[in-house]
Amino acid sequence: MKPRTIRGINDLLPDNLGTWRYLEEKIIQIVESYGFNEIRLPIMERTELFKRSIGEGTDIVEKEMYTFNDRNEESITLRPEATASLARAGVTNGLLHNQQQKLWTMGPMFRYEKPQKGRYRQFYQFNIEAMGFIGPDVDAEIIILCQRMWKQLHIDQISLKINSLGDKKTRSDYREDLINYFSSHEQQLDENSKNRLHQNPLRILDSKNPEMKSMIDKAPLLSDYLDSASIDHFEKLKEIISSAGIEFEVNPKLVRGLDYYNRTVFEWETDALGSQGAVCSGGRYDGLIEKIGGRPTPAIGWAMGMERLVSLYELSNEKISKLSPHIYIVVDGEKSQRKAYKISEELRDLNPSIRIQLNMGGGSFKSQLKRADKSNADYAIIIGNDELENRYLSIKFLRQKRDQIQVPLGDYKQIADLVLN
Ligand code: ATP
Ligand code: MG
Repeated sequence: MKPRTIRGINDLLPDNLGTWRYLEEKIIQIVESYGFNEIRLPIMERTELFKRSIGEGTDIVEKEMYTFNDRNEESITLRPEATASLARAGVTNGLLHNQQQKLWTMGPMFRYEKPQKGRYRQFYQFNIEAMGFIGPDVDAEIIILCQRMWKQLHIDQISLKINSLGDKKTRSDYREDLINYFSSHEQQLDENSKNRLHQNPLRILDSKNPEMKSMIDKAPLLSDYLDSASIDHFEKLKEIISSAGIEFEVNPKLVRGLDYYNRTVFEWETDALGSQGAVCSGGRYDGLIEKIGGRPTPAIGWAMGMERLVSLYELSNEKISKLSPHIYIVVDGEKSQRKAYKISEELRDLNPSIRIQLNMGGGSFKSQLKRADKSNADYAIIIGNDELENRYLSIKFLRQKRDQIQVPLGDYKQIADLVLN
């Protein structure tokens, strides 16, 4: 029997990574053009960090974390998201006191969810976080950054939903009223929502159950509970992004699943990927850093699901294929093989971006040329006896009708110019 991966956890194969790499490189270039710098974080943290930051009553902490004890009986968790680790790293390394940080990171996250298209147990996120910024100027800027990303990546089936969660008091007053409202409609709640009622009633608003829709539609609205400073913050944000030409919809039911958010929250969504529509989601978490042991530091960020981004990209753009060699070198015997090493090293010296595949394991000319074709190389360089004797190289065009040319041995520049045109 073939060995398999763990359910919901996939290998990413060379055939698919062309698009991934292209998107990652573009995104890095864009976020760096806004002053974000890379940070790399551990994949494991103390379980406590996530319980404290994401919140005990959330789906993630309650039932989605990969948690285990290490050999020292310490509870460890594979990170389900990056913001908590970023905030922790900021505090651990003294990056936040009297400073502002704009950071990006990317990598795998782990959640024990029901696997389906666009929802996996190991998935990849690209994150940016701006820490030490009170906003709403920076809230607007990271949204404007997203807009630039969609434009440069040719992604158009995407729309922006925003909301404000207000301050701590807003959330607790609202929470209480929401529990009262849902309790008075308890017979209409499904099992899942009944379980959430006291732990995380805001999450019930996210329910996709059509039978609960009209009841949820009549629930109290968070926007009626906002404090005046948060209203002001939200109004300014809307003003800035409007004048930047960004279209958005205020969705008063957008509450996000994690406890640490306040004020600005947003989600870029698509209808094009079926039910897994959230592509890039974020918000402000002014209380988080203090909660995990740092000084009070306002902050905001977003996380983008790379699998969903790749799918969305490939819906309206051609998939980017894996890299194939520019040159496949065909040899004839030992002397020729040694020459081939030398030639390929000198070509790489001349231009490090040339991709050269040297024939390995011998074989007749015919079988080597077959391998050259299979490798998808553009050209074959042939080093036969006649070539060695008369100091030239034959270059065979593998993708064009033109047959073959000869280049003097040592004229690597001509070869590089030809293959990289
Ligand atoms: P969803 O509503 O789809 O469950 P979420 O609110 O749990 O998303 P976040 O925790 O905000 O998502 O994570 C940010 C982004 O990471 C999401 O917008 C989505 O693109 C992606 N994402 C979240 N969970 C998964 C998963 N299990 N598999 C693949 N991508 C995911
Ligand atoms: Mg989720």
